[in-house]
Amino acid sequence: MEVVCLDLEGVLVPEIWIGFAERTGIDELRATTRDIPDYDVLMKQRLRILDEHKLGLPDIQEVIAGMSPMPGAREFIDWLRERFQVVILSDTFYEFSQPLMRQLGFPTLFCHRLITDENGKVVDYKLRQKDPKRQCVKAFHDLNYRVLAAGDSYNDTSMLSEADVGVLFRAPANVIAEFPQFASVTEYKDLQREFAKGSPRAIPE
Ligand SMILES: [Mg+2]
Repeated sequence: MEVVCLDLEGVLVPEIWIGFAERTGIDELRATTRDIPDYDVLMKQRLRILDEHKLGLPDIQEVIAGMSPMPGAREFIDWLRERFQVVILSDTFYEFSQPLMRQLGFPTLFCHRLITDENGKVVDYKLRQKDPKRQCVKAFHDLNYRVLAAGDSYNDTSMLSEADVGVLFRAPANVIAEFPQFASVTEYKDLQREFAKGSPRAIPE
């Protein structure tokens, strides 16, 4: 029995905060953990900027609804779900990802949660647990599932290490160079092939 665990942003959908910054023209929202390594500091800054621009959750969701998954992502997910159990492990928030998850047919998603007040203002956020991607893979192992996983960035490498099969997808050159133990592919059909190869079952094309 096998579960495929996929990262969301950079694998199935574009980076949500960057897309949001582009659509709203709020450049300050482009900052990521590469600019501000402390996630709590980064999130507090994002919430402050949203508040300054009077953007509540409904405004944010409307902007994100104008974004699309990467070309071919929906077909890839559909292909996978016919052949494996699929769970998306992401560091995004349910409230943010919803418009994009709708376009992917609402596959199972484990991520974090935003806290809003009665006016829709985002007042805080709640991380589900520390190192959640690795914890999920460990939990699936405890449930006697083999785990195949794919992600594009540093926050995926603990998941890929913990998994039975770990694949980098469209990862930047520095991540590929630093983690040569993982196969690295850029097209969905190649990722399908890696997962089929990594399964003890005969996976139909
Ligand atoms: Mg990613």
